[in-house]
Amino acid sequence: MIAIIPVRDGVLPLGADETVAESSGNALLIGSGAKAAGAELTTLRRCWVMAADAYAPAAWASGLARNMDAYWGHRGRLDPNMDAYWGAWSAVLPASPDGRDLAPRLAFELGVPLLAGAIAVTEHGAQLARWGSRVIDEVEVDGPFVATLLPGAGGTEPAGVAPEITKLRWEATQAMDAEVLDVLPPDPRTADLAEAPRILAAGAGLTRGNAPSGSDAVAMLEKLGEALSASIGATRVVTDAGHADYRRQIGTTGVVVNPELYVAFGISGAAQHIGGLGSPDNLVSVNTDPSCPMTARSDLGIVTDATALLVELAERLVGKEVTGG
Ligand SMILES: Cc1cc2nc3c(=O)[nH]c(=O)nc-3n(C[C@H](O)[C@H](O)[C@H](O)COP(=O)(O)OP(=O)(O)OC[C@H]3O[C@@H](n4cnc5c(N)ncnc54)[C@H](O)[C@@H]3O)c2cc1C
Repeated sequence: MIAIIPVRDGVLPLGADETVAESSGNALLIGSGAKAAGAELTTLRRCWVMAADAYAPAAWASGLARNMDAYWGHRGRLDPNMDAYWGAWSAVLPASPDGRDLAPRLAFELGVPLLAGAIAVTEHGAQLARWGSRVIDEVEVDGPFVATLLPGAGGTEPAGVAPEITKLRWEATQAMDAEVLDVLPPDPRTADLAEAPRILAAGAGLTRGNAPSGSDAVAMLEKLGEALSASIGATRVVTDAGHADYRRQIGTTGVVVNPELYVAFGISGAAQHIGGLGSPDNLVSVNTDPSCPMTARSDLGIVTDATALLVELAERLVGKEVTGG
């Protein structure tokens, strides 16, 4: 199995390291600045680099397929070193926006099945998360396939070796792509929670607290999130109570996230919630209980009333109008 990692201007997509780990450290990096981006992958063992131009999913898919088909279709060889890898192995891409865009096109071009939204991938198939991760579907495939791996679902055990790097020639194809007019940064209010780099999350300790409580507390958290360019998450207690949309629920029956910053307001840290949390670079827990699991695993534990801290932060970072103060 080989990971295919689309790179934009030297920036790796979300979940790149996990995808390479799932492929035993074998990866093909394609895009501008791909070689430099490879240096940031901790799980890399063998790496092939294709310095393609700006991201163009149709052209990339047909170009990749043509090269990969050289092995599966016996129409010649791109690089003798690739034989052992591409000849029999399937491809796995991160389920990042570019990965989700590229994977179905690649599967179509190769004429192989697409296994989308996997939490684990083997050489024979994948475990696919369905119905908002409420159902795990085990799919076996007889032959090569293309899969996408959900960010936050796998581990990233560092390879601990200097990767072996092979540069491959990129041959562009004439495939028709949409013209890109502009690339806008994601809006944290509407962006897919799974890809959010910063998350402020509401738990029962916030929504069941003093005024503002319930949906009003979540609305204030959203305002604070806007000021900090952070997305809003919630526990199941909060979504079940109707204070936040189910798409904001983090956990084993919700969204799997892996942000750089996670601030938990009044969240106990139940296993079903932590199960979807990945490993945030910075974890802050605001809780009245200093020994609750969330505070125990946090980098910074703030033992205080979550509502009072939210109001204080909102007044300072958004303005007093947000609290009516
Ligand atoms: C099959 C199954 C699947 C589940 N899936 C999920 C899932 O995907 N996601 C999920 O989140 N849950 C899930 N759950 C529910 C999960 O088990 C927990 O019940 C839930 O995560 C707890 O949410 P909570 O931390 O908001 O509430 P609680 O566990 O009630 O914790 C509230 C916390 O707030 C603190 N607190 C209280 N007052 C204050 C205050 N004034 N200021 C600050 N802190 C305060 C308390 O000390 C406590 O730590 C699932 C359960 C089951 C059975």
